[in-house]
Order: sequence, then C-alpha cells, then structure tokens
Amino acid sequence: MLYGSSQNLILLCYSSRSSFINYAFDILRMISLSFLGAAREVGRSAILLETDSKFLFDYGIKINRKGQPPSFPLEPVGYVDKVIISHAHLDHIGYLPRIFDHYNVQVLATAPTHDLAGLLFRDAEKLERTPPYKKTSSAKALGFIKRLEYEKPLNFKRNKITAYDAGHIIGAMVTLIEYAHHRIVYTGDMKYEDTLMHRKAVPVRCDTLITESTYSNRPHPPRHELEKKLIAIAEQTISKGGVLLLPAFAVGRAQELVRALHMFDNVYLDGMAIQACEIALSHSDFMREPGKYESALGNVTYIKKPNDRAKILARGGIVITTAGMLEGGPALSYIPRLNKNSRIVMTGHCVDGTNGRKLLETKTITLDKTEFRVKTPVDYLDLSAHAGRDDLLRYINKCAPERIFVVHGDDCVNFASELSGMGYDACAPSVGERFEVK
Ligand SMILES: [Zn+2]
Ligand SMILES: [Zn+2]
Repeated sequence: MLYGSSQNLILLCYSSRSSFINYAFDILRMISLSFLGAAREVGRSAILLETDSKFLFDYGIKINRKGQPPSFPLEPVGYVDKVIISHAHLDHIGYLPRIFDHYNVQVLATAPTHDLAGLLFRDAEKLERTPPYKKTSSAKALGFIKRLEYEKPLNFKRNKITAYDAGHIIGAMVTLIEYAHHRIVYTGDMKYEDTLMHRKAVPVRCDTLITESTYSNRPHPPRHELEKKLIAIAEQTISKGGVLLLPAFAVGRAQELVRALHMFDNVYLDGMAIQACEIALSHSDFMREPGKYESALGNVTYIKKPNDRAKILARGGIVITTAGMLEGGPALSYIPRLNKNSRIVMTGHCVDGTNGRKLLETKTITLDKTEFRVKTPVDYLDLSAHAGRDDLLRYINKCAPERIFVVHGDDCVNFASELSGMGYDACAPSVGERFEVK
C-alpha cells in the first residue's frame, strides 16, 4: 500500500516535473507574425505566423484601378507547413496556386470555401489569358485542401487550430491557433451582425488579434431598413415594366439578394452567380435558415442563353448578376439596353477606379474602351458583409486581446491609434514588417 503510494508520488513528481519542463519551454517559445499583404490596404491578404511551424493565413490578390494589373503579396521565405484560407474571395485565395508553382502544402479551409475556390480559379483564369501562376497549380491547390469544420479543432505538432463562423460569406472562418499558452486569432473578413444568410461572427478570446478593419471609420445603416428599401425599389420598378439590375459579387452578395427578394416571382440569376448560389445550396449546414434559402432559390429563374436576356429586357424583372464592381460579366451587357423604367442598385463596395465606382460617382462606365453615359437611375444600398465600425469595436472588446494588429482596411493607421487611445496595445503593420508577439 505504502509502496503503491510512494510509486504514485514518484510518478506524480515525474509528470509534474515533465510538465514543468514543458511549461518552461513554452515560456521560451517564440511566436512571430510577418505581414506579407493586406497591411494598410484592402486586398492581397497574406500573414505568416511562425510558432514551431509556419502557417500562412490567406494568400490573395489585390484588384487595382481599371487597366492596372492586380498586385500580389510578398512571397514567404522558405517552406510553409500549412496555408489557412479564411474564405473564398479572391483577395484571400486568388494567389494560392502560386505556392504550388514551387511545392505542395496542405491547405486548411471549410468545405464551401473548397468548392467555391474551384469556381473562382476557373473564372479568374478565363478572364486572364496569362494567370500569375502555372496552369496546373490551381488544380493542385484544390487537391491539397483539407476541410475544416467549425469548432472542431485540429492538432498539428504543438499547435491547436480551430475555425469559427465569421458571418461574412458561406464558409468564412475566424481562425484560432493555440500554441505555448498563447492564443492568436485571425478574423479574415468578418461580420458581427446577423444577416439573412448567416449568423454573426463568433468572438474568440485571445492574446493576439489580427483584425480586418474595412469599415473601421463608418457604421452601416440599419440592415432591415436597407432590405425594405430594396423591396420598395423592386416593386416600383417591375410595376412599370422596368428591369431592376443588381450587379453583385457572385460569392456572398448574390445569395443574400436571393434571400432578400424571395417574395418576387420574377427574379433572374445570370452569370457566375448561378454556380455560386448552387454551391451555397449544397452547404446548407453553413447557413442560417437553409429552408428559406432553398425556397428563395427555387423561385429564381436561371438565365442560360444570351437570348433570354432580350426577353427579360422587354418584359421587365429583377436581375442579379456579376460583376459586382462592373468589371466585366453579364451586368455590362444589360446596362446599355435597359428601358426608361429601369433602375440599377449597387449593393457592394466598389474599388476606386472600377466601373462600379465610376457609375456611382459620374454616371458613366467604360464599355469596349469607350465612355458610356448611363441614363438609368442608380442607387446605392450598403448591404455590406463586413462589420461596421460599432460592431468591429464590440467584436474586439469581446475577444479581449492584449495586442491587436489592424489589417485589411484603407484607414488602418487611424483605427490602430484610436484603439491605442482606448487602452489597447494596437498597431497597423506595413507590408514586409515582422513582429515577435511572444
Ligand atoms: Zn471577403
Ligand atoms: Zn477581404
């Protein structure tokens, strides 16, 4: 009995000594962050986290002013162990195949991100005759994606990786990496407010927070009022035989608009938005109220042939189509042919210099290299999939970080200094900067 007790004591001493040594090692372990893109800008998201392993959060492109080529993030030095893709927007995933030009690496992403990535790569490669990576690399990248589920952790060496719902688009994730008693959270793009399609982002308590800040300088108008206004515009337009044209991002906004306009029986989907809506439908466990989305989409007619457009232009209806910033896609073919009772409603952020921004600011667009004056009335409804300023602050507060890195915004420096004024240790890194966070 005594012997047994002393043996237990020895084992206990040994195990606590071993955990003490581990703990001591953990204290000494270094963690660093290198900002390869999306630093003081929106686009080309890419952040390298180094623990005992190298993790690359996102690898996207940046869409520039019309006529200028996209920008790319810096390339990480050496091999990375895992790439973690927050969601299927090109500014987060568009340059992923480039890594596979050099070597193969496991990519962690949710199932919807995986399926939508294939659609995005195919579309980008169709538009660009010479994609910025080898032709075989996008297929390789898709083959190396391991699907993550929300709140089901994955262990890799001494790191624990957990994905949480980011509320931004289908499958978007906030990522937590726990390593050596330190919690690092990367928000990706995030919305901290319920929308028709998604629940709001899950706040995750952490020591270090890397947060997006797209709307750090402005709150959004109340969403239900915008939805009501959209319905009113749709009713007015179609009652007069006009077309309500809704240029939309295929991934995210098109699905939200399908839900918002579920009560109309003359809604049409055109272009890449069709495939994106179908892919979303196959991942109903990543949305709220999937039954409502399914019935709304069931009520929508797909435009399969260019001839169908002429019929809709003649009889009127609601058309949801790409591209969201009017940089190509079927939306451009509708605009010059809209009748006098039609309306255009822009619902997303348009980068400076794009046709979408030009339309909003000057009522002109560039069509086939010539300026075209748009006579159709144009409205803007801010149905953003990003957290507005107030929600961003609430989210940060809930995460209660010791240190904050502000990225993915046009106003990162000001927002970081505001956060510092509120008592946070916050900064807005520049592209190429590296920080030791532990
Ligand atoms: Zn996004
Ligand atoms: Zn983004």
